[in-house]
Amino acid sequence: MRIPKEFWLEGLNFECTRCGWCCSEPGGFVHGSEDEFRAIAEYLSLEFDTFLKKYTIDDAGYVSLASDKNGPCIFYEQGCAVYSVRPTQCRTFPFWPGLLTSEKEWHKMAEKCPGISSGRLWPADEIVAFYNANSPSYYKTPDWLRRYFHRLSITHQTEESGI
Ligand code: SF4
Ligand code: SF4
Repeated sequence: MRIPKEFWLEGLNFECTRCGWCCSEPGGFVHGSEDEFRAIAEYLSLEFDTFLKKYTIDDAGYVSLASDKNGPCIFYEQGCAVYSVRPTQCRTFPFWPGLLTSEKEWHKMAEKCPGISSGRLWPADEIVAFYNANSPSYYKTPDWLRRYFHRLSITHQTEESGI
């Protein structure tokens, strides 16, 4: 059976239960922009270089927050220690391109994240804004979705997404 790519156009339910699984998955990466990492450094009252050395690793050319011995994110302490300045990747989970372009992957993630398919209904325009916030940095936007963005007159400028 063909799975329609636009499975989320009627919106998706999601409400975080704060179970912590997504911050604790071994081998996970948390990418971010320079501005995002500078904001965390400032929040921790650290020089940027010191922050990078202490809290980040290189993931094939992308800076990632380090994990604790290949376990939880280094900032996970029964909750996020830098919650107010957490990177876009964290703010936008689970509305990531890799999950929004595959209904199968969305449902696979729902087996791990108890917040998926429950709680608030997020409308398509908000989902697109989350998608846009990740796309410029980490993912190539597929053509079908570019056309959809165009129809909604939503730009790919993260700054304008309001996130
Ligand atoms: S796995 Fe889902 S429900 Fe649990 S903390 Fe992460 S987003 Fe929230
Ligand atoms: S920065 Fe915070 S929200 Fe993001 S993975 Fe680490 S602990 Fe979780």
